[in-house]
Amino acid sequence: MAVIAIAPCQKLHDYEESVRRAGGEPWVLDTSTDRPEEAIRAAGGLLLAGGGDVRPEIYGAAPHPSYHAAEPGRDEYEIELIKRALDAGLPLFAICRGIQILNVAYGGTLVQDIPSEMAGALEHKLDVPPNEPFTIAHEVWLEKDSLLARLASDADNDGDSRQVNSRHHQAVKTLGGGLVAVATAPDGVIEAVEDPTRRFCLGVQWHPENFYRTGEFRSLFEGFVRACKI
Ligand code: MN
Repeated sequence: MAVIAIAPCQKLHDYEESVRRAGGEPWVLDTSTDRPEEAIRAAGGLLLAGGGDVRPEIYGAAPHPSYHAAEPGRDEYEIELIKRALDAGLPLFAICRGIQILNVAYGGTLVQDIPSEMAGALEHKLDVPPNEPFTIAHEVWLEKDSLLARLASDADNDGDSRQVNSRHHQAVKTLGGGLVAVATAPDGVIEAVEDPTRRFCLGVQWHPENFYRTGEFRSLFEGFVRACKI
């Protein structure tokens, strides 16, 4: 069974459950004892989860007043995990904050606060219980011929668009070198990226893990786990 390393975060349950239901075995890393190079050597894939904001200094910006720091040391720990995973050719799935730190690790930048930086943007930070079944925030348009569109198409979905939840105030701004945008909200906010040169390197801005009970995005986790080393 593929062991999926998960960088620790505060709401682990749904990530772990999504991995399990896709046939993988979650391994929540301990940042004080699991060094990134050893974790990547032992894992079959890397999952990056949600959390606070990436420190703007890392991508060369001054902090916006809304900046909400992540756990101390988390930015550096996750960037090291990403670099090691890419070096090792390990599949990588990044969610919410995950897509943001992935983009920064690739040299990209972030919109620090959507409401104050993108006039006319949709509401992307819905204040709803995350586990309410299928609470929809907005649509995303999928890029044809992307890994995401292939995984997201099924009997009920043609792979052109999907309804997603949304609990973020930041987003990808300038894409890191090598990443392409593969899902976009109708207001232009980038909602998913991938590195097409990799077997599986995908980031999504919404929270597919919250749907583990009803399975709307199980195919994303299944595709990820399938790509991972046993
Ligand atoms: Mn959104």
